Order: sequence, then structure tokens, then C-alpha cells
Amino acid sequence: MDVGSILILTGLTVLIVAFIARPLAERRSRLVTAEEHALSGLQAERDKILAMIRETEMDHAMGKIPDGDFEAQRAALVAQGAALLRAIDAQGGAAPAPAAADDLDAAIEAAVASRRAPAVAGGAAGFCTTCGQALQGGDRFCARCGAPVPQEVQA
Ligand SMILES: [Zn+2]
Repeated sequence: MDVGSILILTGLTVLIVAFIARPLAERRSRLVTAEEHALSGLQAERDKILAMIRETEMDHAMGKIPDGDFEAQRAALVAQGAALLRAIDAQGGAAPAPAAADDLDAAIEAAVASRRAPAVAGGAAGFCTTCGQALQGGDRFCARCGAPVPQEVQA
């Protein structure tokens, strides 16, 4: 075997070792962050529930959902959100003390309210009377359907 072949073999060996070792190293770091992934997954899920609660409220406000259905749908979503908060607590993502069910419901309600508040403070000016799109202060036309925004809504 000449020097050239040995060099090529050595180079190939290094490449193969690197190729095999890299996924192992990545897998190890994945294990370390698996809990964090689970936590951020739960948090994303909770955010989704909060968004769905808001959507349900908007649909109800627009008359798309009858009162009875709305109460049931919203209660179900709040219960789901509370269960997620409990799971997030268990993952160490929030206060370590286990919260009572009432506290979790209150926490969800507070989270929904806090999401609603910045929209109002940030100059939201109600909803399009044609399509229900949320309007920003200063909008003269609906961003979604282009309907003109009545002046009194912009106040
Ligand atoms: Zn519109």
C-alpha cells in the first residue's frame, strides 16, 4: 500500500468518524433540551387555546355563535387552558407551588384579558361592521375587506 492510499484511507476514516459522531453528539444535546421542548410545546399549546378563546369571543360578539354554544365552548377552552397551565407548572415553567383549579381558571381569564387589553390600548378601533376584522385607530378602510370605516368608530 503506497503513501497516497494511506492518506486517502486516513482521510476517509476521519470523515466517517465525524459523520457517525455528529448525530450522536446532536442526540445527546437533544436529550438535554427535551424537557425544554416539552415546556415550549405546552406554552405554544396554551397560547393557541388563548387565541381560540379570543376567537370564540369575537365570533360570539358577531353573532356567529349562539349564547348557549358560546358558554359551553368557552368553558371547554378555559378548562383546556387550565389543564395546560397545570402541566406547565409540573414542568417547572411557572410558580412551583401547585395552583388550585380556581386559580388556574383565573390565570387563564387574566391571560385572555391581558391579550385583549393591549389591542385596546394600542389604538384598536373596534371591528369592521362588514367582515368583523379588528380595526386599528386611524384605519379609514378595513384591512381585510376594504369597507370604509365610519368616522365615529375611529374616535
Ligand atoms: Zn371588513
